[in-house]
Amino acid sequence: MLNVVIFGAPGSGKGTQSELIIRKYGLFHISTGDILRAEIEKHSELGTTADMYIKEGKLVPDQFMIEILTQTIEANLTAKGFIFDGFPRTLAQGEALENLLRERNTNVVAVLNLDVEEDELVKRMLNRGKETGRSDDNLYTIKNRLNVYNIQTEPLKTFYRKKGKLFSIKGKDDVNEVFESVSEVLDRLAFKTRK
Ligand code: ATP
Ligand code: MG
Repeated sequence: MLNVVIFGAPGSGKGTQSELIIRKYGLFHISTGDILRAEIEKHSELGTTADMYIKEGKLVPDQFMIEILTQTIEANLTAKGFIFDGFPRTLAQGEALENLLRERNTNVVAVLNLDVEEDELVKRMLNRGKETGRSDDNLYTIKNRLNVYNIQTEPLKTFYRKKGKLFSIKGKDDVNEVFESVSEVLDRLAFKTRK
Protein backbone atom coordinates (compact mmCIF):
# COMPACT_ATOMS: atom_id res chain seq x y z
CA MET A 1 0.00 0.00 0.00
CA LEU A 2 1.08 3.55 -0.62
CA ASN A 3 -0.04 5.37 2.52
CA VAL A 4 0.64 9.07 2.66
CA VAL A 5 -0.03 11.71 5.29
CA ILE A 6 -0.68 15.21 4.02
CA PHE A 7 0.43 17.49 6.80
CA GLY A 8 0.45 21.21 7.51
CA ALA A 9 -1.15 24.05 9.41
CA PRO A 10 -4.83 24.85 8.93
CA GLY A 11 -5.28 26.54 5.57
CA SER A 12 -2.06 25.10 4.16
CA GLY A 13 -3.90 23.40 1.30
CA LYS A 14 -4.13 19.82 2.49
CA GLY A 15 -7.60 19.25 1.06
CA THR A 16 -6.74 20.82 -2.29
CA GLN A 17 -3.57 18.76 -2.74
CA SER A 18 -5.38 15.61 -1.60
CA GLU A 19 -7.88 15.98 -4.43
CA LEU A 20 -5.05 16.11 -6.96
CA ILE A 21 -3.24 13.19 -5.32
CA ILE A 22 -6.27 10.89 -5.37
CA ARG A 23 -6.85 11.69 -9.03
CA LYS A 24 -3.28 10.91 -10.08
CA TYR A 25 -2.40 8.06 -7.72
CA GLY A 26 -5.78 6.48 -7.02
CA LEU A 27 -5.40 6.66 -3.27
CA PHE A 28 -8.36 6.59 -0.90
CA HIS A 29 -8.92 9.97 0.75
CA ILE A 30 -9.54 10.07 4.50
CA SER A 31 -10.22 13.66 5.57
CA THR A 32 -11.15 13.77 9.24
CA GLY A 33 -12.36 17.37 8.87
CA ASP A 34 -14.75 16.31 6.07
CA ILE A 35 -15.96 13.33 8.12
CA LEU A 36 -16.69 15.57 11.10
CA ARG A 37 -18.46 18.18 8.97
CA ALA A 38 -20.67 15.43 7.51
CA GLU A 39 -21.55 14.30 11.04
CA ILE A 40 -22.45 17.88 11.97
CA GLU A 41 -24.74 18.09 8.92
CA LYS A 42 -26.43 14.86 10.01
CA HIS A 43 -26.91 16.20 13.54
CA SER A 44 -25.52 12.94 14.88
CA GLU A 45 -24.34 12.68 18.47
CA LEU A 46 -20.73 12.68 17.31
CA GLY A 47 -21.45 15.71 15.11
CA THR A 48 -22.95 17.66 17.97
CA THR A 49 -19.93 16.95 20.16
CA ALA A 50 -17.45 17.72 17.39
CA ASP A 51 -19.17 21.01 16.59
CA MET A 52 -18.47 22.33 20.09
CA TYR A 53 -14.74 21.78 19.68
CA ILE A 54 -14.53 22.92 16.07
CA LYS A 55 -16.26 26.24 16.79
CA GLU A 56 -13.63 26.98 19.39
CA GLY A 57 -10.79 25.92 17.13
CA LYS A 58 -9.96 23.07 19.49
CA LEU A 59 -9.14 19.50 18.60
CA VAL A 60 -11.81 16.87 18.91
CA PRO A 61 -10.56 14.44 21.59
CA ASP A 62 -8.20 11.68 20.46
CA GLN A 63 -10.50 8.84 21.50
CA PHE A 64 -13.20 9.96 19.03
CA MET A 65 -10.73 10.56 16.23
CA ILE A 66 -8.90 7.27 16.62
CA GLU A 67 -12.23 5.43 16.62
CA ILE A 68 -13.30 7.21 13.41
CA LEU A 69 -10.02 6.45 11.77
CA THR A 70 -10.02 2.79 12.73
CA GLN A 71 -13.52 2.34 11.32
CA THR A 72 -12.69 4.14 8.09
CA ILE A 73 -9.56 2.06 7.50
CA GLU A 74 -11.44 -1.16 8.31
CA ALA A 75 -14.16 -0.30 5.83
CA ASN A 76 -11.69 0.32 2.99
CA LEU A 77 -9.03 -2.35 3.26
CA THR A 78 -9.01 -3.05 -0.45
CA ALA A 79 -7.72 0.46 -1.21
CA LYS A 80 -4.43 0.83 -3.05
CA GLY A 81 -3.35 3.17 -0.31
CA PHE A 82 -4.68 5.94 1.88
CA ILE A 83 -4.11 9.64 1.96
CA PHE A 84 -4.59 10.83 5.51
CA ASP A 85 -5.69 14.46 5.53
CA GLY A 86 -6.10 16.12 8.94
CA PHE A 87 -4.91 13.06 10.85
CA PRO A 88 -2.74 12.67 12.87
CA ARG A 89 -2.94 15.98 14.74
CA THR A 90 -1.45 14.87 18.05
CA LEU A 91 1.41 12.57 19.02
CA ALA A 92 -1.13 10.12 20.44
CA GLN A 93 -2.85 10.04 17.04
CA GLY A 94 0.52 9.54 15.36
CA GLU A 95 1.26 6.53 17.57
CA ALA A 96 -2.22 5.15 16.99
CA LEU A 97 -1.80 5.42 13.22
CA GLU A 98 1.54 3.60 13.36
CA ASN A 99 -0.09 0.77 15.34
CA LEU A 100 -3.20 0.57 13.21
CA LEU A 101 -1.17 0.23 10.03
CA ARG A 102 1.39 -2.11 11.53
CA GLU A 103 -1.41 -4.47 12.59
CA ARG A 104 -2.43 -4.55 8.95
CA ASN A 105 1.13 -5.17 7.75
CA THR A 106 1.55 -1.76 6.20
CA ASN A 107 2.86 1.68 7.15
CA VAL A 108 3.06 5.37 6.31
CA VAL A 109 5.59 5.85 3.53
CA ALA A 110 5.66 9.64 3.48
CA VAL A 111 4.47 12.67 5.36
CA LEU A 112 4.17 15.63 3.01
CA ASN A 113 4.51 18.80 5.02
CA LEU A 114 3.00 21.81 3.28
CA ASP A 115 5.01 24.76 4.49
CA VAL A 116 3.13 28.08 4.44
CA GLU A 117 3.76 31.16 6.55
CA GLU A 118 1.18 32.29 9.06
CA ASP A 119 0.09 35.55 7.37
CA GLU A 120 -0.73 33.65 4.22
CA LEU A 121 -2.66 30.99 6.19
CA VAL A 122 -4.83 33.62 7.86
CA LYS A 123 -5.49 35.32 4.53
CA ARG A 124 -6.52 32.06 2.86
CA MET A 125 -8.84 30.99 5.67
CA LEU A 126 -10.55 34.39 5.90
CA ASN A 127 -11.09 34.20 2.18
CA ARG A 128 -12.47 30.67 2.38
CA GLY A 129 -14.76 31.78 5.20
CA LYS A 130 -16.20 34.46 2.95
CA GLU A 131 -16.59 32.15 -0.02
CA THR A 132 -17.93 29.03 1.66
CA GLY A 133 -19.30 30.26 4.97
CA ARG A 134 -17.26 27.58 6.75
CA SER A 135 -18.04 28.35 10.37
CA ASP A 136 -14.51 27.90 11.75
CA ASP A 137 -12.98 30.25 9.16
CA ASN A 138 -13.42 33.43 11.22
CA LEU A 139 -10.62 35.39 12.84
CA TYR A 140 -11.34 34.27 16.42
CA THR A 141 -11.37 30.56 15.57
CA ILE A 142 -8.48 30.86 13.12
CA LYS A 143 -6.22 32.29 15.83
CA ASN A 144 -7.10 29.42 18.15
CA ARG A 145 -6.56 26.82 15.43
CA LEU A 146 -3.11 28.19 14.66
CA ASN A 147 -2.24 28.13 18.34
CA VAL A 148 -3.46 24.57 18.73
CA TYR A 149 -1.51 23.60 15.63
CA ASN A 150 1.73 25.07 16.98
CA ILE A 151 1.37 23.41 20.36
CA GLN A 152 -0.28 20.05 19.67
CA THR A 153 0.32 19.22 16.02
CA GLU A 154 3.69 20.67 15.08
CA PRO A 155 5.62 18.19 17.30
CA LEU A 156 4.57 15.47 14.87
CA LYS A 157 7.11 16.89 12.44
CA THR A 158 9.93 15.77 14.72
CA PHE A 159 8.15 12.44 15.25
CA TYR A 160 8.17 11.75 11.50
CA ARG A 161 11.51 13.40 10.78
CA LYS A 162 13.15 10.91 13.16
CA LYS A 163 11.60 8.10 11.15
CA GLY A 164 12.98 9.63 7.96
CA LYS A 165 9.48 10.11 6.58
CA LEU A 166 9.09 13.89 6.56
CA PHE A 167 9.19 15.69 3.22
CA SER A 168 8.72 19.44 3.32
CA ILE A 169 7.15 21.18 0.39
CA LYS A 170 6.92 24.89 -0.23
CA GLY A 171 3.17 25.40 -0.05
CA LYS A 172 2.93 29.05 -0.96
CA ASP A 173 3.15 28.71 -4.73
CA ASP A 174 0.07 28.18 -6.83
CA VAL A 175 -1.83 24.91 -6.57
CA ASN A 176 -0.26 23.29 -9.64
CA GLU A 177 3.30 24.19 -8.71
CA VAL A 178 2.80 22.75 -5.25
CA PHE A 179 1.38 19.62 -6.83
CA GLU A 180 4.47 19.26 -9.00
CA SER A 181 6.61 19.14 -5.89
CA VAL A 182 4.20 16.67 -4.29
CA SER A 183 4.32 14.48 -7.40
CA GLU A 184 8.11 14.44 -7.45
CA VAL A 185 8.20 12.98 -3.96
CA LEU A 186 5.39 10.50 -4.58
CA ASP A 187 6.74 9.30 -7.92
CA ARG A 188 10.02 8.45 -6.27
CA LEU A 189 8.31 6.60 -3.42
CA ALA A 190 5.72 4.82 -5.54
CA PHE A 191 8.58 3.47 -7.63
CA LYS A 192 10.40 2.25 -4.53
CA THR A 193 7.40 0.53 -2.99
CA ARG A 194 6.68 -1.29 -6.24
CA LYS A 195 10.09 -2.89 -6.25
P1 ATP B 1 -7.20 22.69 5.58
O1 ATP B 1 -5.76 22.50 5.92
O2 ATP B 1 -7.73 21.61 4.71
O3 ATP B 1 -7.45 24.04 5.02
P2 ATP B 1 -7.97 22.52 8.42
O4 ATP B 1 -6.78 21.71 8.78
O5 ATP B 1 -8.09 23.83 9.05
O6 ATP B 1 -8.15 22.64 6.88
P3 ATP B 1 -9.86 20.37 8.87
O7 ATP B 1 -8.80 19.34 8.70
O8 ATP B 1 -10.97 20.38 7.92
O9 ATP B 1 -9.30 21.84 8.89
O10 ATP B 1 -10.42 20.22 10.38
C1 ATP B 1 -11.37 21.10 10.90
C2 ATP B 1 -11.52 20.90 12.39
O11 ATP B 1 -11.94 19.55 12.69
C3 ATP B 1 -10.22 21.07 13.22
O12 ATP B 1 -9.98 22.41 13.55
C4 ATP B 1 -10.55 20.19 14.46
O13 ATP B 1 -11.37 20.86 15.37
C5 ATP B 1 -11.34 19.04 13.87
N1 ATP B 1 -10.46 17.90 13.52
C6 ATP B 1 -10.21 17.43 12.27
N2 ATP B 1 -9.34 16.40 12.31
C7 ATP B 1 -9.02 16.21 13.61
C8 ATP B 1 -8.16 15.32 14.31
N3 ATP B 1 -7.42 14.42 13.67
N4 ATP B 1 -8.09 15.44 15.66
C9 ATP B 1 -8.81 16.33 16.31
N5 ATP B 1 -9.63 17.19 15.73
C10 ATP B 1 -9.75 17.16 14.39
MG1 MG C 1 -9.18 20.21 5.11
